[in-house]
Amino acid sequence: MIRRVVTVCLLIVALAGLGAAQAPPRASVPRVDPPRLVVLLVIDQFSGEYPNLYGQQWTHGLARLFSGGATFPLAAFPYADTVTCAGHFTIGTGTLPRTHGMIGDDWYDPATKRLPECTTDPDATSVPFGGGTGTEHHSGRWSMVPSFADELRLQSARLPKILSISLKARSAIGLVGRGGPGTMVIWNEANGTWATSDVYTKTPWPDVDAYVRAHPVAAAYGQTWTRLLPLSSYLFDDDGAGENTPAGWTRTFPHELKSPSGQPDRAFISQWDRSPWIDAYVGEMASALAVKLRLGQEPGTDVLALGFSALDEVGHDFGPRSHEVQDVMARLDVVIGSLLDTLDTSVGAGRYVVAVTADHGVAPIPEQAAALGFNAGRTRSADIRQAAQASLTTLLGEGSFYAGFSEMSLYLTPGTIDLLRAKTGAMEEFKRALAAVPGVARVFGPDELAASTPTEDPMLRAIRNGYFPGRSGDFFVVPKPYWPMAAAGTTHGTPYGYDQRVPVLFYGAGIKAGRYLSAATPADIAPTLAALCGITLAQADGHVLGEALK
Ligand SMILES: [Zn+2]
Repeated sequence: MIRRVVTVCLLIVALAGLGAAQAPPRASVPRVDPPRLVVLLVIDQFSGEYPNLYGQQWTHGLARLFSGGATFPLAAFPYADTVTCAGHFTIGTGTLPRTHGMIGDDWYDPATKRLPECTTDPDATSVPFGGGTGTEHHSGRWSMVPSFADELRLQSARLPKILSISLKARSAIGLVGRGGPGTMVIWNEANGTWATSDVYTKTPWPDVDAYVRAHPVAAAYGQTWTRLLPLSSYLFDDDGAGENTPAGWTRTFPHELKSPSGQPDRAFISQWDRSPWIDAYVGEMASALAVKLRLGQEPGTDVLALGFSALDEVGHDFGPRSHEVQDVMARLDVVIGSLLDTLDTSVGAGRYVVAVTADHGVAPIPEQAAALGFNAGRTRSADIRQAAQASLTTLLGEGSFYAGFSEMSLYLTPGTIDLLRAKTGAMEEFKRALAAVPGVARVFGPDELAASTPTEDPMLRAIRNGYFPGRSGDFFVVPKPYWPMAAAGTTHGTPYGYDQRVPVLFYGAGIKAGRYLSAATPADIAPTLAALCGITLAQADGHVLGEALK
């Protein structure tokens, strides 16, 4: 009996030993297989209606992305002040301006009594490339939240390489944020100099410096912008009513890049800024640097963020139905096609993911809308300023009460709100005076803007999504639909559909192609990319567009 027990015990021990020797390998935690490279393409003023209206003109990169990607054709910004700075920081962070604080292209600073640009940082010094003269002061210090790129840098096993390029500092900075090790942010100053600031590096990055030296902007001097496609491919008229004429140009093709001085000076740079040459420069510099810096060629995820600005500059002048706008996109289609071809070779097709969107849309040129039967016109910001000053004098007497007006934000000097509140009916009277200005639809005061009580009013909800105390105006003056605040040409920056609706598109690694009619906003891009890369955003107002993920 004892012997049998011992035998059984030995058998058990032997089996246990055998088990240990032949056990299946331990299961490891399944890992997210991240894309090697995240490519973020933001086309300034790329209206949500353009793919449907002009998509048949695209046969290269834009065609490949829209036909092979996951598109969200109903996507729109959910806030009111639809401008460049707010849009890029929303895309870069996955939060709304009420959270990231970059509420507009500028806001009133009571200390200096000025309206500095959103990226203005007196402590930041320009670091120019290619021997240019840098004079501007930019950083992302006023953004209140980390970007997707910042979070990637914090949470990656290997330090990612992050490269962001745009004509505009607010675009390049907005897409990747405040910066850190391995992060290169490049923009073009108003004088045409390619630059970064000492917030990002103390000395010019040698690869960027070498590229800019080998590719001077002045090489475009004397070039002529003509249509890329046959004339019959363009919709509408070249000579449209209400178009603006940039200095040295007419309302119709061709457009020459030159200056009265005969030199590549500021007048030439102003034309270059609003020509397809700037988009081509950004695309070609991005392709060259992506290869040189070996973006996406090692395990882990790198980031390439590009802001294409020509469409915005051209759209403001010539409007969304112009041949110029159509031509900028036809040429950008080629630029993006070439960039994708480069990445197919350097990173590998299917190993990178692309996100495409815009920072805002655009209003039709009011004269053209009026000709089609719309109640359309121009709201003059000078009228709003004068009405505010006159009303304040009537209500409060002579004094310094008016501070500034920008985008839809009207600012009063410190203490003036209390004076209006203290005088019976004064607040309502002031709002009535602003609402009486031709082209003004509605006026919102400090109590409505700052209140935390929920509202059923969709316009007030949109304004509050972009409301940031201490930066937003004391009053919001909203123009009527189709009454843009532009003296000539057109603009954006309102809570109306044509300004809010933009494409949102994903393409490539981990993406399930299709047309998704679910509600989406550009604030969903960063959370969706974070999910693809297996990282966490500390704060997000957007959500993961899971239907587009494999
Ligand atoms: Zn813009």
